[in-house]
Amino acid sequence: MHKLLKALQQAHPSIQFTSGSKFLWSPETQEVFYASTGHNERDIWSLLHETGHALLEHTSYTTDVELLKLEAAAWAKAHGLGASLGIKIDENHVQDCLDSYRDWLHARALCPTCTTRCLQQDNGQQYRCHNCHTTWKVTPSRFCRPYRSVNSTAQSVAIFAASA
Ligand SMILES: [Zn+2]
Ligand SMILES: [Zn+2]
Repeated sequence: MHKLLKALQQAHPSIQFTSGSKFLWSPETQEVFYASTGHNERDIWSLLHETGHALLEHTSYTTDVELLKLEAAAWAKAHGLGASLGIKIDENHVQDCLDSYRDWLHARALCPTCTTRCLQQDNGQQYRCHNCHTTWKVTPSRFCRPYRSVNSTAQSVAIFAASA
């Protein structure tokens, strides 16, 4: 992991790598945070993925669908980065990550009143049901937020935490 960090830092001096509690790309501060403990294969893939966001200069997205596209793009970039460093990223892991995003976005888009699947409003923080006209707010979507390990109850609490 430290070897990889060093190689990435050398190849991309414009990116700031910061030790933190988890793997995260922070567009606000232009930093890639990496978990400083418990390094396994997945952590290495996560670091490549976050670096992918950084290299693609992902800064903002207005809708959940757009976020999903950026996530897929960051994984594609991570594949290329990994290949150049002799690291192979397991495609199943990538699909798992993207699936967990899809599940999460799907749950956000369901009307809490009648469970019709709805489209996000243009401002990106509100949904409106075309069936029963309920509106609900969602927490702003974030890079690299959901993972399968989060149980579904905790997840739905997080999804609707901002509901008025
Ligand atoms: Zn509804
Ligand atoms: Zn990501």
